[in-house]
Amino acid sequence: MLLNLKFDSKKIMYYTMLKKKIYFIINPVSGQGRQNVFEKIIPEFLDLSKYEYYISYTSESGEATKLSRNAAEKGDCDIAVAVGGDGSINEVAKGLVNTNIPLGIIPCGTGNGLANYLGIPFNFKKALNIINAANVRSIDTATVNEKLFISIAGVGFDAFVAKKFSKIKTREFWAYLNIVIREYPRYKPEEYIIEINNTIIKTKALFVSFANSNQFGFNATISPSATINDGLIDVCIFNKAPLIEAPVLAQLLFFRAIDKSRHMEIIKASEVKLIQPHNDYIHIDGEPVKLGEELNIKVKPLSLNVIVPF
Ligand SMILES: [Mg+2]
Repeated sequence: MLLNLKFDSKKIMYYTMLKKKIYFIINPVSGQGRQNVFEKIIPEFLDLSKYEYYISYTSESGEATKLSRNAAEKGDCDIAVAVGGDGSINEVAKGLVNTNIPLGIIPCGTGNGLANYLGIPFNFKKALNIINAANVRSIDTATVNEKLFISIAGVGFDAFVAKKFSKIKTREFWAYLNIVIREYPRYKPEEYIIEINNTIIKTKALFVSFANSNQFGFNATISPSATINDGLIDVCIFNKAPLIEAPVLAQLLFFRAIDKSRHMEIIKASEVKLIQPHNDYIHIDGEPVKLGEELNIKVKPLSLNVIVPF
């Protein structure tokens, strides 16, 4: 009897030691703020027989990278989960790239481009069930002048809109759409020089996007054939179309057929150089930044592990 008891307590210790440690990094200001009830929901739906967990809330830009990098370097977690939007995922992923620690995603952003592409649902219970199942897949990441992006980066109109959107408080689709409708008629396309696959292209484009996933966010598909593990970036060059075509273009975007538009050219490459006429804002996973006139985009094949649905 005594022997059995001893065996059981060891067994319990053994299983406790086997529990994986999850680190939830929550951005409290992503999207519409629904992540602020997430902490209460975790014990209800996370499989606590497999996992133990701890949580940090970020309070400033860049903090999520420091937290995930620190945890990965110290071996403090087996999985790091970004609770937020594409910008938050970008920050957490920066600390995990080229490590074995997988990234989990609880989508709480505005556009949720990467989560949409990977099929990770908005519902907390379903998203936690995907983490419970822990199916890991390696994906490509990419850099613009050494700055990491996971989903999409770009110059031109979408970067201009991202900058305007970052200044307003309402993080909703309708606010984003409102900026697009207001600014589109008066936006003047810039001339870009693009060096790609040993060819130089000079183009006056509305925007040039570099797609690692296929998603702009809001389920708008910028490059329907883009895949996140082929070692290639889809360079999407879009020329300004007359306003009258806007409803058709919107349909093509939301029905995964924008590559059929005569205004769109898509070229796949592992390395691209783009020169813009001024040091304008570009966006990296939706966040506006200035990185100079010359932009060098490179793919880092299969450099990030992510937990995805089966
Ligand atoms: Mg690709």
